[in-house]
Amino acid sequence: MNPTREETGGRELIDAYTAVTGRGVIHHLEQLAAPLKGARVVHVNSTREGGGVAEILRKLVPLKQAFGIEARWETISGDAPFYRCTKGFHNALQGLPQNLPEQALQAYEQTNRDNAEALRQSLEEADFVVIHDPQPAPLLAFCPNRKGKWIWRCHIDVSHPHRPVWKHLKKWVTPYDSSIFSLPEFAQPLPHPQYIIAPSIDPLSEKNRDLTASEVQQTCTGFGLDPQLPMVLQVSRFDRFKDPLGVIESYRLASRLVPLQLVLAGGGASDDPEGEAVLGEVRQAAEGDARIHVLQLPADAHRTINALQRASDIVLQKSLREGFGLTVAEGMWKGKPVIGGDTGGIRLQVVNHYTGFLVRSPEGAALRIRYLLHRRELLKAMGERARRFIWENYLITRHLREYLTLMVGLLH
Ligand code: UDP
Repeated sequence: MNPTREETGGRELIDAYTAVTGRGVIHHLEQLAAPLKGARVVHVNSTREGGGVAEILRKLVPLKQAFGIEARWETISGDAPFYRCTKGFHNALQGLPQNLPEQALQAYEQTNRDNAEALRQSLEEADFVVIHDPQPAPLLAFCPNRKGKWIWRCHIDVSHPHRPVWKHLKKWVTPYDSSIFSLPEFAQPLPHPQYIIAPSIDPLSEKNRDLTASEVQQTCTGFGLDPQLPMVLQVSRFDRFKDPLGVIESYRLASRLVPLQLVLAGGGASDDPEGEAVLGEVRQAAEGDARIHVLQLPADAHRTINALQRASDIVLQKSLREGFGLTVAEGMWKGKPVIGGDTGGIRLQVVNHYTGFLVRSPEGAALRIRYLLHRRELLKAMGERARRFIWENYLITRHLREYLTLMVGLLH
């Protein structure tokens, strides 16, 4: 028997969100969820820790359950050749030409075939299956007796994919009933309906809930940060698309004219094999400057990241490609202006000159860092607008509303 909403603490969870969003938002969600009561929904991705997809599913799945949906979260696992191949996919889909040898593509297919063995029953019986990103996309092909609707949910910036790799992936995603992208620019010629749903953050999570000033201070003291120096922060996996070296360059240019410290905080995702190499490059670039703090954090350091975001003056997300950039929303929710790369999902969140600045180079980022640190009133006002903007647009309740609307539409 399935647990009731009361047994899973669903009522309490919903009450907690009501306090943030107001009753109207929750009432709307209850209405939308009513026809989906008891529906079996399975989300599948490739890691439980690290990166934005895991961050979202950790919160979205329990929230769906709270609204009476039988939601589950499954992950697929693979070996090193599989993750090398899917990282190649990721890089290629975001525009970096990659040569994926036949052997790698075979590892990709075989890993999905193997994972389908364990997942087949629950996937075939589900009313809705949501497959996140390219890693588990071939699962559909190995579930021939599926009865529900299958949705491919792409979180990455596929606006200018390297064509040969997209062509390969397209073969696997074409048979889906629909796909979801984060931005209209990412949509692709596919023979099924495509929907645009932007990701979201959870205001009640350890990553985003309010913290006391002393909790924030303790975290900073623990890392040896100087309470007197302005702080700029970038939180990211160590990935070249996040441009950590460009961040260091921006800091160097800005710090010639204004004293400041830089925190680069990140960890790996278990499905990202390039992290170590990029971290090495970052450490080398930061060497000899005691005001650059490169923090390698465990995957569950949510409260630490929360505290660092609150302690910072400005949040950076200087990505060169970005599907959405939860770290942008996280910083803005803490009342920080964000200086972000003028790309992908960052453009949705950083309204130039209003909630932060969009930049295209280290020089641009350095200019905006100095500009804001010299105008404290403006910095504060931008930060307040940023928080409001996230409250209005990018909380998990809006995300759930759009998922429910899509699922209700697919019922008929
Ligand atoms: N994150 C984390 N630890 C890290 C680095 C990142 O918990 O060491 C979190 C970060 O706070 C955000 C998510 O992982 O919630 C990253 O999502 P985003 O959309 O910014 O980027 P992605 O990693 O998915 O490309």
